[in-house]
Amino acid sequence: MIVNMKPEATEEQIQHVIERIKECGYQAHVIRGAERTVIGAVGSSGRRTELEALVVAPGVDVLIPISQPFKLVSRELHRERTVVDVAGVPIGGERYVVIAGPCSVESREQLLETARGVRDAGASLLRGGAYKPRTSPYDFQGLGEEALKILRDVSEETGLPVVTEVMSTEDVNIVSEYADMLQVGARNMQNFPLLRRLAKAERPVLLKRGPSATVKEWLLAAEYILAGGNPNVVLCERGIKTFESELRNTFDLAAIALAKELTHLPVIADPSHGTGRRSVIPAMSRAAIAAGADGLMIEVHPCPERALSDGPQSLDLAAFAALMREMDRPARQRFGAKVASAR
Ligand code: PEP
Ligand code: MN
Repeated sequence: MIVNMKPEATEEQIQHVIERIKECGYQAHVIRGAERTVIGAVGSSGRRTELEALVVAPGVDVLIPISQPFKLVSRELHRERTVVDVAGVPIGGERYVVIAGPCSVESREQLLETARGVRDAGASLLRGGAYKPRTSPYDFQGLGEEALKILRDVSEETGLPVVTEVMSTEDVNIVSEYADMLQVGARNMQNFPLLRRLAKAERPVLLKRGPSATVKEWLLAAEYILAGGNPNVVLCERGIKTFESELRNTFDLAAIALAKELTHLPVIADPSHGTGRRSVIPAMSRAAIAAGADGLMIEVHPCPERALSDGPQSLDLAAFAALMREMDRPARQRFGAKVASAR
């Protein structure tokens, strides 16, 4: 339920409503807008009749039910767009953000060369997997903690904040020590214990869409993180499974536009995993920005033919620099003069 306070409501009246929402067994989420304060009452075990009686409380204007099953991520509750700050880089604001780097961290040299290259071409954040969710147990599984140390080290050296995947609840502490943003991989989108744990983490979360998840399921996964107390979630479309077999996944552009309509959270696009094919990444990057994405995640490797994972979809440094130049026009069309993220 959304409790819209009157523009002239006093702080005391606002506090009274918050107290009553809690007494009725709901969580109160306060959003202070320029014009008025809005309070979301969310939860499943509250006393609804008593909550509805708040319509006559002093300072209350109107009560509006939230029709979507996801409440806190919904734009019904939160009209203004959320900007997530990742160690000083805003995602979801007036500029588009590019997260680039290798699928996996393979060595310090590999990561440093990639980081310098992508930074000079205009990327704002560095990615690189330390714990890799591989389909086969015989494939490279990532360097683990060693990779985390390399990520931190290269981040200090280049000034790029780092994003890396955390695969299990046990690793949240250690990954948080080294990384600026925690990625939930597609295969873990509905790992509910992990989502609950990340709700208590002190890092923003990049939540990838599951390969077989509907947009509603994806937003409900984000709801777990917000409901548990972490408001800093960025969504990432990375393709879904369909009957199409020429590409690794079907990159769902409409899901980007729809997610932007349904939620206030930033949405970025990963055309690397979304297609699995280097040649179509520039076209899908332009399309994603046109569809409303707030940024891109692109896999880059100094020598893709030697990559230990996802070589076929990785751009080399020259191709990445070319992509960034090509993105200039569509990005300017959407964001105006300020196209790259401030660092
Ligand atoms: C990745 O980002 O390298 C990755 C494994 O992505 P996804 O979870 O989308 O497959
Ligand atoms: Mn990958």
